[in-house]
Amino acid sequence: MLSRKIKDGDVFIVFDLEWNQPLPGKEYSFDVSTLTGEIIEIGAVKLVSLDGMLIEHGVFSCDIKPVCYKTIHYHVKKVTHKTNADLARGESFEDAYTKFREFCGTDAILAGWGNNDTDMLKMNLKFFGMDDRIGMFFLDVQPLFSTFSTEKGKQRSVEFAVDYYNVPKEENFHSATADAKYTARIMENIFRRNQTSEVLSVISSSSVNCDIKREYTKVGAPCEHASQALSLVSGFSVKCPICGRNFNIKMEPFRIRKSVYALYDCPGDGEFFCRTRIKKNREGKYYAASVLRFATQPDYYLAASKREEFEKFGIDGEPVTKPEPEPTPEITAET
Ligand SMILES: [Zn+2]
Repeated sequence: MLSRKIKDGDVFIVFDLEWNQPLPGKEYSFDVSTLTGEIIEIGAVKLVSLDGMLIEHGVFSCDIKPVCYKTIHYHVKKVTHKTNADLARGESFEDAYTKFREFCGTDAILAGWGNNDTDMLKMNLKFFGMDDRIGMFFLDVQPLFSTFSTEKGKQRSVEFAVDYYNVPKEENFHSATADAKYTARIMENIFRRNQTSEVLSVISSSSVNCDIKREYTKVGAPCEHASQALSLVSGFSVKCPICGRNFNIKMEPFRIRKSVYALYDCPGDGEFFCRTRIKKNREGKYYAASVLRFATQPDYYLAASKREEFEKFGIDGEPVTKPEPEPTPEITAET
C-alpha cells in the first residue's frame, strides 16, 4: 500500500498503451502466452499536484514498431484504426520505454484506466529481456471514478467518464495518447470537484505497488447450473494466495444477481476482496470466474454498497426498469 502522503509537487504519470495481438492460427517460434500483446504505442500525460488541483506538465507520445506481431490483428485495427504501415514507422520498444521512463522522472505515481496496462508493460519488459520491475506505485482511475461519481461499483469506460464530466471530445478514443489525455482530464475533474482531503485519502489507500501481484483469478469448469458453477470455484477463496494460510472472513460471501462478493483477511498479508461472476460460455453452459485481490478503498465501497442492496432486496438486487440480460458468451478480446 502507498503510505506516503500526496503533497504539492507530487507527480502523476497518467499513461495508456495500445498493443497488437498474435494472429489466430499462425505459428510463432515462441509461446504466445508469454506475449499475449506486443506494445505498439505509449501515451502519457504528466500531472503535478498543486493546492488540491492537478496541473498538466507535458504529454508523451511514442509509436513502437513491433518485432513479433508485425501484422495488425483485425480487432486491434478496428479499435485503433492503425495499419501495418503505421506499425512499421515506430521506434524500438527499448528506445520508447527509455524515453518514457525519462518522461516519468523519479518518484512519480503511475495512473491509468483499469490495470491491464501495467500487466502488459511488465509482460513486454520480461519478454524482451529488460528489467521488469517498474518501481512505482499505480493508481487505477476507473474505481476512483466510480467512488467519486454516482456510478459506485460500476466498471465504466473512459468515454462514459468523459461524458459524465462533460469533457470536450476533441480526439478519437483508443489511441494511447488520446486515452491518456482523457484519463488525465477525468483525474483533474475528480480533484477539482471533490474535497482534497477525501480524494487524497482514497488515493493513498488505493495505489498499489506495480511489482507485487495484486490480483489472482480462477475460472471454474462449465456445468449445467449456476449454483453448481459457483460451488466449483468456492475453494479458491478459502486460503491466502500468497502465504497459503486460511482466510478469516471479514464479510460473509453473498450473492446479488450474477455476482458473489466477499471480504477476507489474511493475518500476514492483509485484506482481500473477492468477486465471483457467473457467466455463460458459447455452448450455453454456466461457469464461474473469481477474482481475488488486495482490497482497496473502492473495493470496500463496492462491497458495502452491494451488501446494503442485498440486505434490502435480497439475491435479485434492486429492481431495475429493464431486466438484466443473460450473461453473453465471451467473444471479443480486450485491447
Ligand atoms: Zn497470506
